[in-house]
Amino acid sequence: MVEDGGVFVDSGVIRAVGTADDLESSVGADVERLRFPGATVLPGLIDCHVHLAFDAGPDPVRAVTETGPDELFAAMAERAGQLLAAGVTTVRDLGDRGALTVALRDAIAAGKTPGPTVVAATAPLTVRGGHCWFLGGEVGTEDEIRARIAANAAAGADLIKVMASGGAMTPGGPRMWESQFSPGQLRLVVEEAARHGLAVAAHAHGTDAIAECVEAGVRTLEHCSWRTAEGVEYDPEVTRRMVEDDVAVCRCVSGDWRLFLEQMGPERAEAMIGAIRAMRTAGVRFIGGTDAGVPGARFGDYAGMLEFFASLGFDNAEVLDMATTNAAHALGLADTGRIAPGMRADLVAVDGDPLTDLSALRRVRHVLAAGRSAAR
Ligand SMILES: [Zn+2]
Repeated sequence: MVEDGGVFVDSGVIRAVGTADDLESSVGADVERLRFPGATVLPGLIDCHVHLAFDAGPDPVRAVTETGPDELFAAMAERAGQLLAAGVTTVRDLGDRGALTVALRDAIAAGKTPGPTVVAATAPLTVRGGHCWFLGGEVGTEDEIRARIAANAAAGADLIKVMASGGAMTPGGPRMWESQFSPGQLRLVVEEAARHGLAVAAHAHGTDAIAECVEAGVRTLEHCSWRTAEGVEYDPEVTRRMVEDDVAVCRCVSGDWRLFLEQMGPERAEAMIGAIRAMRTAGVRFIGGTDAGVPGARFGDYAGMLEFFASLGFDNAEVLDMATTNAAHALGLADTGRIAPGMRADLVAVDGDPLTDLSALRRVRHVLAAGRSAAR
């Protein structure tokens, strides 16, 4: 923390960090000054799990499958803008259709449309009729697994997403706790992705699927809700391995988590929360993700997601690490998540001090994404 701090940004990169007085004397008079009295400047936030192609309405599947590519792209660009306005300067998209996120990523990087830096998974690997099959990533044989990963890599994917267990949004598919792939197939996914220089993010609700993904060597576990047919079954041994192998957990929570907990009922909610607390105690690296785009998960309610973790007893510094440093580390991004010379100029200024009052994150005064000021 630097009191009365200042950051000098040039050509999209942080050049110097210090007190405002220090910078005032070292930076030329012609350099534009932005002043935010009473605000805190922190690294731009990182949402590690969104679906820009989904509309967060009651039936995102229909919305994505029945929208033409041009219209869908425009909607995705608009959602990217909502994320940016909330202080999110990097977003990892974990499943879209037709690699539209890659086109959006490139348009944003070229300055053609405002938005956060996009890290794109493109079509997630799933089984025939499996979770999110409608995004185009169905595979069955080992050859099909190889071919899909090669196709995603060729389309410009930044990572590979695999649907290791069933999910809530796919009627008729495997149940949430059921594994979709064999352990051998998951290992193949990780090996093939690595051959293309890509890490793997695994959607895993089931306790079995979580264990199989850790064994296979995925980089991040999405959801990680420890589900079985009976309820919740947390496994401390698998968790120990996660910590050892530095597998991060993106325990996706949308801003409307209070409603979600209510619908779950007290007993299951308590079991779910108990598993999160146990993972925290074991030293798991948590990263922030909202699953924005799925029903009820609005784009840009990033602070709401962080407030969930605060409500479980995570302290504010820990929560901010999830949103910045830890997220950048887990995503393999060396140029964001910290305020230091040489880093990309991803910065957010919020009213007040989020270390003492997390709701400060809801009062965004200014956002710089790769050095560009977001219109407010
Ligand atoms: Zn998701």
